[in-house]
Amino acid sequence: MQRIDHTLPWSHLGTERTLSVFRFGQGSRKVYIQASLHADELPGMRTAWELKQRLGELEAQGQLKGVIELVPVANPIGLDQHLQSAHMGRFELGSGKNFNRAFHELSAPVAELIGERLGSDAEANVALIRQAMGQVLDQLPAPTSQLQAMHRLLLRHACEADFTLDLHCDFEASIHLYALPQHWPQWQSLAARLKAGVALLCEDSGGSSFDESCSSPWLRLAQRFPHAAIPPANRATTLELGCMGDTRVDQARANCEAILGFLAEQGFIDGHWPAAPDECCEGMPFAGTEYLFAPHHGVVSFLREVGEWVERGDALFEVVNPLTDRVTVVRAGTSGVLFALDRSRYTEPGIWQAKVAGREVIRAGKLTND
Ligand SMILES: [Zn+2]
Repeated sequence: MQRIDHTLPWSHLGTERTLSVFRFGQGSRKVYIQASLHADELPGMRTAWELKQRLGELEAQGQLKGVIELVPVANPIGLDQHLQSAHMGRFELGSGKNFNRAFHELSAPVAELIGERLGSDAEANVALIRQAMGQVLDQLPAPTSQLQAMHRLLLRHACEADFTLDLHCDFEASIHLYALPQHWPQWQSLAARLKAGVALLCEDSGGSSFDESCSSPWLRLAQRFPHAAIPPANRATTLELGCMGDTRVDQARANCEAILGFLAEQGFIDGHWPAAPDECCEGMPFAGTEYLFAPHHGVVSFLREVGEWVERGDALFEVVNPLTDRVTVVRAGTSGVLFALDRSRYTEPGIWQAKVAGREVIRAGKLTND
């Protein structure tokens, strides 16, 4: 194992932050895994530590057949943000920016740099594009903030990968994942191993999230150069590993073994591994996900559990205003998997309370919430 420590620029006087990458194995193929980019989402960090131990063993046994880079603490900035005992890990406090938005768009500068050299040899194109992505990031003007520097370092490591896993979680949720529809056939084994409740598929959710910044440039380049052979070479997913509190040892170990089994299946690890279960969740269009909101302030009582299938019209939660006695029951507007609930039980209009993944497309434009 090799440890690569990047010192982040723009630290406050008297402090220093480091982004640490743990690199296992060797070879031409690469997997990149990071955890807790939203710094208060810790199931991924706990799972990453299991991976760190297991990858160390597998490397010592000579079982690794490619490079696996692991970043268990992807966001040291966000880890340091506490406000009166509450961990504020989703947005950078200084700027208000979501840590998982606005990653650098690589397809346009890569097209400028090497577009004319892309031809019919897919393997050569992949090598050329990866090299150009690195060059584009290396030649950017110096970062103007610590957040920008951190973003670029994460993307710099991930842009050369064949598979990229970004480990997150939701407030109260079943395990679920976000990916490009083109990659869903390959992710099904991982989803089955993780016993995921649903996969949410789209080409562009509108937020330039980390996974899309890794995977989408390949689609955009293929669209821009239709005569060149450009495969979708970086299969990237955001893996939501259940609830905020899902850091139990058995959960982390199960997540770890599911990921290792998947990587073995993809040829990155030798040896005998359990086959993926036959049963796998459905891949739904992310544009079919309904976000449900309360129509007024009040106390929320959820009426259904995460992971359940709900029908359009089913009551999902009620909101009670104890001052006016106003009680509102909020019902599903689409049929699908109730895969996430908010953590807070006091609500106000504008804050989502529940998410239902349906089969029918009901939204367009920007699909992510902030
Ligand atoms: Zn997250």
